Amino acid sequence: MNILVLNCGSSSIKYQLLNMEAQPVLLAKGIVEKIGLPLGIFTHKPEGKEKYILEKPIPDHVDGMDLILKALTDKKYGVIASLDEIFAVGHRIAHGGEYFSHSVLIDEEVKAKIKACSEIAPLHNPAHLKGIETMERLLPTIPQVAVFDTSFHQTLPPKAFIYGIPYEYYENYSVRRYGFHGTSHKFVAEKACKILGWDITEKKIITCHLGNGASITAIDKGKSVDTSMGFTPVAGLVMGTRCGDLDTGALLYICDKKGYTSLDAVRLTNKESGVFGISGVSSDFRELTSAADAGNYRAELALDVFCYNVKKYIGAYAAVLNGVDLIIFTGGIGENDERVRNSVCTGLEYLGVEFDEAVNLKARGVDRILSTPHSKTFVMTITTDEELVIATDTLNLVK
Ligand code: ADP
Repeated sequence: MNILVLNCGSSSIKYQLLNMEAQPVLLAKGIVEKIGLPLGIFTHKPEGKEKYILEKPIPDHVDGMDLILKALTDKKYGVIASLDEIFAVGHRIAHGGEYFSHSVLIDEEVKAKIKACSEIAPLHNPAHLKGIETMERLLPTIPQVAVFDTSFHQTLPPKAFIYGIPYEYYENYSVRRYGFHGTSHKFVAEKACKILGWDITEKKIITCHLGNGASITAIDKGKSVDTSMGFTPVAGLVMGTRCGDLDTGALLYICDKKGYTSLDAVRLTNKESGVFGISGVSSDFRELTSAADAGNYRAELALDVFCYNVKKYIGAYAAVLNGVDLIIFTGGIGENDERVRNSVCTGLEYLGVEFDEAVNLKARGVDRILSTPHSKTFVMTITTDEELVIATDTLNLVK
């Protein structure tokens, strides 16, 4: 049974086709980029076959999806004989608001709710809807499932999600903390417990998803009880290009000084900030590390700020949970950057962490325990797989 996983952005479509028969197997993945621009790019990577790249104008999402479906069934680059071999489609949806605490089969009512959330996720949800409607047109008989970034965090108690502003903004405009990366936080916590033979309902876990976007979640007995991203994914940690927690007064001051509109402020805080903004070098941690090693002060500062932020949230969430059994690192940085993990875990002895620097040094892109056998609190690096979660949820709902 093949599941097509889609992540539709405003100008891009990322996809994976997975065979979910016994052991999930990736058949192909790729990305359509620069939709609507003068020149689009389509990159298709079939497993065990040559990569296929096409550059041409891709006016809209229908054209983009058309390219994907043709590539999947192409004689040379394809991995399936016909589109009938696609059992269902699973969509990553950024924002489910307070409507969805689980993945759901998409129908008219679900679409209306995703649309209702567009107001609070204008950069993401309209593009997701476009993706859903495109698939309805191109593959009308195939069921579609929505998997939300926000749903795992719907267990947050009000004291963790209410902001310190007049309550009417929550009641009338749904302004509250929602949290994101939910599929990843849930997946790595469950995977780690499986590896350790633990019952998640007895454990206190802090998951650090550190990628271009980065967030930390406090998980108590398997449920998300607090998380660092907020109403939007710009809150919490300093990230690649996002600012993370920022005094609203500072932002208003900057807007006054520069005459910025709210759109300018979105650009500043989402695209020009984070470690990129601090360093002026890059948002990529490999490039930052090289620059810091070469003596670039601001690159080193950016890395320091990032690690300090992660550590601060771990401390806060240990307080929230009244202790912690396991700290997990995941995402491109969490899975690969031993220096970040080392910097974060140095000085966590008060939490019962005995960090094994030698093991840490060699752990890249693997599932591994990074604490010593005597450590009261476990530390692990766990590889995440959001597409697999989406495919699994899709299969379970459609079956
Ligand atoms: P996204 O949020 O876009 O999914 P990823 O989870 O892929 O991001 O993480 C991207 C980040 O991971 C980049 O900052 C990149 O530098 C970092 N990264 C990837 N591989 C390595 C590595 N081997 N060492 C250090 N950092 C890495």
